[in-house]
Amino acid sequence: MTISPLLPVYNRAEPVFTHGEGAWIFADDGRRFLDCVAGIATNGLGHAHPRLVAALTEQAGKLWHISNIFRIPGQERLAEKITAATFADTVFFANSGAEAIECALKMARKYHAAKGHPERIDIIGFAGSFHGRSYAAVNASGNATYLDGFGPRLPGYVQLNVDAMPALLAAIAAPTTAAVIVEPVQGEGGARALSGEWLQTVRRACTEAGALLIYDEVQSGMGRTGKLFAHQWFDDAAPDIMAIAKALGGGFPVGACAASEQAASGMGVSAHGSTFGGNPLAMAVANEAFDLIAAPGFLDNTLAVAALLRAGLEDLARRYPQLIVDVRGKGMLIGVKLTGNNREFMAMAREKLLLVAGGGDNCVRLLPPLNLSEAEADEALARFAATLDLAGERWAKQAA
Ligand SMILES: *Cc1c(COP(=O)(O)O)cnc(C)c1O
Repeated sequence: MTISPLLPVYNRAEPVFTHGEGAWIFADDGRRFLDCVAGIATNGLGHAHPRLVAALTEQAGKLWHISNIFRIPGQERLAEKITAATFADTVFFANSGAEAIECALKMARKYHAAKGHPERIDIIGFAGSFHGRSYAAVNASGNATYLDGFGPRLPGYVQLNVDAMPALLAAIAAPTTAAVIVEPVQGEGGARALSGEWLQTVRRACTEAGALLIYDEVQSGMGRTGKLFAHQWFDDAAPDIMAIAKALGGGFPVGACAASEQAASGMGVSAHGSTFGGNPLAMAVANEAFDLIAAPGFLDNTLAVAALLRAGLEDLARRYPQLIVDVRGKGMLIGVKLTGNNREFMAMAREKLLLVAGGGDNCVRLLPPLNLSEAEADEALARFAATLDLAGERWAKQAA
């Protein structure tokens, strides 16, 4: 037997982490890393935030789980906060991003079916997009390798290119279209931010065609771009349905599907459900995380430090043109496209005690906690520069 007891679907990096504090994370051999992965944009408040620890431990002594057949006051409170802060009128709580997407896709089809149009099932997604690993999510995602070996793409999933606007407008107007699903800032695909004009154009086209617009803000939401949600940078670009997860629970598994009253109009009793979704533990942490991120002034720091990081990385791009192709993204969802292999670069960054994430299009992503300090951003830039020096040496040797 050669398979490991743990299903080998991840190529895991070597450090074993034991604890963290803010943007710092400690390995069992004593090394201390600066964490610009943050659990893939999930530990938005850093590690072991005292208020999140207090919220979780206090709830842990009271009630963990009761099932959604009973009222869960924490869900009611958080749904009120999310609806007050967004276009949405109603929220469903799940355990992950993929489940938030499942709810969004089911809701879109149900909306049309309930209005007498069960033929409107097509979900339009985009090349390079990522929506999670559930069966519906891999069908909606724009990376064919996630579907590889799992059967043909299901009927009702259309894939287009974000740059092909005429084809997109035609597809939106098609009589079998249910919805468009898009990340306002593509995360896994390589930190590509869509313009306000693109989002507004698609918004208008969906409204005209009676199709729904779904935003996947699983990664770009909860303050990652410096606004609570990335689409809120633009007027007249709100979706009908939005999937949220990652930083929503500050590291505790929780997701949410937020929708307008109209978009949710098909979802009556028993249309959807979840055993664990929004359980009292998740809600205790998520309410606290939401309060911290939505507090006046919190995202001012995120924006200021993100600008510092961005400027520093652009400066590095000018100083290392042989290594960096470009710097992209929005707020603290930053992608650096490299000339050499991004996986190798991530390993070299770990040698310099810096954690960065991978991404499509040969990017590495910097997704630090939103409360990163200026001093920590300077330190991240210094370690990134040291990694560039190391990569420059190694890649030059490889080429020789
Ligand atoms: C991470 C991610 C998902 C999937 O979330 P899971 O919690 O892993 O299921 C979906 N969409 C986007 C944009 C993501 O970044």
